[in-house]
Parts: sequence; C-alpha cells; structure tokens
Amino acid sequence: MPTDPYAWLEPSLATIHRANWYRSVQTLQSLPGAVVQLAGHEVINFASNDYLGLTGDQRLVQAAVAATREWGTGSTGSRLLSGHRALHRQLEKAIASLKQSEDALVFSSGYLANLGTIAALVGKRDLILADQYNHSSLKNGAILSGAMVLDYGHCEMEELQKKLAQHRQNYRRCLITTDSVFSMDGDLCPLPQLLAIAQEFSCMLLVDEAHATGVLGATGAGCVEHFGYTGEALIQVGTLSKALGSLGGYVAGSAALIDFLRNRAPSWIYTTALSPADTAAALAAVEIVQQEPERRVQLSRNVDTLKQLVQKQLPNQRLLPSESPILCLQLASAAEAIAIGQKLKAAGIFAPAIRPPTVPTSRIRISLMATHELTHLQKLVDNLSKLT
Ligand SMILES: *Cc1c(COP(=O)(O)O)cnc(C)c1O
Repeated sequence: MPTDPYAWLEPSLATIHRANWYRSVQTLQSLPGAVVQLAGHEVINFASNDYLGLTGDQRLVQAAVAATREWGTGSTGSRLLSGHRALHRQLEKAIASLKQSEDALVFSSGYLANLGTIAALVGKRDLILADQYNHSSLKNGAILSGAMVLDYGHCEMEELQKKLAQHRQNYRRCLITTDSVFSMDGDLCPLPQLLAIAQEFSCMLLVDEAHATGVLGATGAGCVEHFGYTGEALIQVGTLSKALGSLGGYVAGSAALIDFLRNRAPSWIYTTALSPADTAAALAAVEIVQQEPERRVQLSRNVDTLKQLVQKQLPNQRLLPSESPILCLQLASAAEAIAIGQKLKAAGIFAPAIRPPTVPTSRIRISLMATHELTHLQKLVDNLSKLT
C-alpha cells in the first residue's frame, strides 16, 4: 500500500514544537501606531517598522483611497504588459530624487527586489561576498543567482579583503551584499571600507537600505547619505513597507542598472505590478519624508533618550551597539528572553524576544518610532529594571 506522502508534516511540526521554535501570529486590532490593541490588550508598540509613524497617517490613507477610486484595486498585469501606470513612474522618479540616483525601479516587495536584482546581476561564473548577518532576501537571492557564495563574518572587513584576494581572480563579476542597518542588531555596515574594498577588487556593491530609508541621513535618503556617499556608484535596495508605510520594494542606481533590471529581473518582469493604492501611499510617504525632517529628528531624540534611560536605570544591562532605532537588550538565554518578553507584554509593552536560530544570541528587540512619547520610553525602562 502506498504511504501517505504528507505524513511527514505532523512529526516535523512536533519537532519544531519540541525545539521551542514554533511560531504563530498575533492579531493587531487597531490602526498602527505607538500604542495598539494586540490580541485584546492595549500595548505600547516597540515591534513596528513604522519608524516615522506614517502607516496610519491620513495623508497616506487618502492617497491610497483616491488612487483606488481612480485606478481600481489592482494593476491587472505585469509592468511590461498591462500593469504599468503613470503613478509607478512618478514613484520611481520620487525615489530616485530622494536617493539622488539616476533612476529607480519599484518591485512588489523588498524581498522580490533583492531576489530579482541579485539573480539578474550575477550567475554561475560569478562570485558573491555576503555579510553573515544579511537579511533572508539577500541570502536567497544569492542562492537563486547560481553564483558562488562566500560569507564573511559580520562586518569583518579584513576577512572580506582576504577572501577577495584569494578568490576574486577566479570569477567574472563579483557582488558584495550587505544590509546597511542590520535588521536584528541595529548596527550599521562599515560603508566607507566596503566601498574602498569594492573598488580595489572591482566588485559591485549592493546595500539593503530597508531599515535606513526615511530614517538615516539628513534628508532621509538612508545610510549611504548618513556616511556621505550620496551619488557613489553602488546599488541601493530598499522597501516601501517600513518607514514609508506602504508595501513594495525598490532598487535605486544608475540609469543603465535600472534599464538592465527592467529587462532581466525575473521577479519584476513576471509578477503583477504594485497596486495603485500601495504606489500612491508610498509616493505620499516619500514626499513627507522630504518635507518633514522633524519626524527624523524626533526619532533620533527618542533613540538618545532610551539609551540614556537604560544607562541610568539598568546599569548592569547592555544594549548592543546601534546607531539606528533598533536597540537590543542582550540576555543570557532564550528562556530568559522569552520570559521577559512575556512579562513585558503582560505589563502592556510589546517588545519581542528574538532568539536563535533567527539570531546567534537571545535578546529583547526594541524598535523605536518618531511617535513614541517620553512616557512610553519611561514605562519600558521601568518595567525592564523590575524584570532584569
Ligand atoms: C524587511 C526587509 C526586507 C524585505 O522587505 P519587504 O518589503 O518586507 O519584502 C529586505 N531586507 C531587509 C534588510 C529587511 O529588513
């Protein structure tokens, strides 16, 4: 008798449960913001990527509603067939202007932007050097490309240089990939060194600005602007779904790069164009990022305030080094992190435990928003000082 080909699913799930790796969703029952209803309880939200508080902003909502009324709920096809609207091009021009790059291309998500871009730029004869802590989309894009992939230790520039010296000459093209703000740690990539090494070894450099766009740099252009490399020849990928409060992804770079991707990135060519609502909301957000620098100023004030409160009230605790709104309180074990995460939630604070295998060491991950108030930060630190 043939065996049930799906019979392996239940034991595999049981294994996931036994390892304490089982995950499930929690329902958010309000507009996104600094304070939300989560699974029936009001909590202060330290788990959102909505850094500037734009996702619930009525201007974005209105832009999405107006675009939906005018253009419908979907885009009906891929960009190269029936899916392209003037709105998409307007958004791409706005992103290029924010980034001060020659051009930009919007994808249906940041994940798809990385998959498509990496797979288009390198192939079997090529080499990818990747930071060990890179986002899943960079890792899977590298696998999809078929290129040889070598990881280097997190931000280990000497190791990167050594590996290039050893291997670069055996390959045609080389692409270095890195998060610019590392999503689980909050630290920044060493961009000046990366650019110098890329130049020395004739490598392309792709930086993933998902957590930096709208957040870092004087005009909100991201980590590249923060380090003073606006206009440098590199490839910037990002998302419309974090500080920009919408859904979608983008690549910004030279006109030739963007033109090439329009012809060669499978995750752009063979997928439905961004919906009118998402496109219009992101466009409104890019304008607000440029017109309201005070949001970024308030966000960076909140980061400084939280760091000071932790130093004062939690003298024995250490925040991982971070220059972004992602701040992590390092803890000894996964069990401790989970226990603290649960107690915080019971106290009305949503700051999740992040643990292996997602990250090498357990922590409470705090992401700050421009819309957090001093009382929110104070309540977080008061509770942490009781619990740790
Ligand atoms: C969130 C994120 C992505 C994916 O972006 P989506 O638009 O959510 O698909 C890619 N890279 C990094 C570093 C991210 O944090």
